[in-house]
Amino acid sequence: MSESRPRTRAQRRRSRQIRLSITTSVFLAVVVVLGMSLSNGKASSASDSAGVVRDREVATAAPEQDKAGGKDKPRATSTPKVTSTPDSDMAMDPQVGIAPEPTSATSVNAEGGLVPVISRVPTRDRVVFLTIDDGYEKDPAFKNFVVANKIPLTMFLVSNAAAAKPSFFSSIATVKGSSIQNHSVNHPNLKTLSAAGQRKQICGNATMEKKLFGKTPTLLRPPYSEYNQTTRSVAYECGIHAMVLWSVSMPSSKLYYGSGSKLMPGDIILLHFRPTNGVKNMKKLLGIINAANLQIGSLTDYVK
Ligand SMILES: [Zn+2]
Repeated sequence: MSESRPRTRAQRRRSRQIRLSITTSVFLAVVVVLGMSLSNGKASSASDSAGVVRDREVATAAPEQDKAGGKDKPRATSTPKVTSTPDSDMAMDPQVGIAPEPTSATSVNAEGGLVPVISRVPTRDRVVFLTIDDGYEKDPAFKNFVVANKIPLTMFLVSNAAAAKPSFFSSIATVKGSSIQNHSVNHPNLKTLSAAGQRKQICGNATMEKKLFGKTPTLLRPPYSEYNQTTRSVAYECGIHAMVLWSVSMPSSKLYYGSGSKLMPGDIILLHFRPTNGVKNMKKLLGIINAANLQIGSLTDYVK
């Protein structure tokens, strides 16, 4: 846009001081500042100074804009508007309590070979549980944020999506209280499948996740929350201890409550891996959890 204009302008306007900067891509990363005094400066001296950073404000502003990935306005103006640094972007604010020791755990039993189905955790501890589904989208900023702030996530992964980049999920799983769980092989509506078809999806996920992550999942979230009795018995055969639905969902930036209008102890919150805005939405959720005087529990500490 204005990047190609300044040089010719600079030649014309000799009686004014012009400060120009050009921020190009990382590969072309060149900041050009032309500082010309009133009566000084021919075109040749202007181009001689190209590439030499003389303006401190611009010199510091430019790299930050590069790091922001072009999110901010790509203009390096003379007003050094310093937005938040990458470090402060990564900070958890407010500070939310993480993975407290449960005062009691809920034991789940598969009566008659049918795994139980839960959508909340019966506890008086002031904790909620963050669950996150699918895994097709792998936003590194989101991963870095949850790892840096040690936010325990129960990840219900589609094993085909997990297999595309297992390191993304195994690094999130290093957070204490996080775990990788079962969300089928490729996300069908299990109710539409025969027992054999459901077995392929549930046991298939378990086998794949064991191979990818070294652990067999013990919790199942059926895609679309759709299941039948066959699902419950097949899940049991595949080593599942409980099917986990949810009581609150946050598809993007808003919370939707299954009942009531605020977070309650024991709520299971449904999130999804998204390509963008994961950090922003997580910060918002942390604020809501904090305002409700709740902490984030580890689901596998509470449901055994
Ligand atoms: Zn899903």
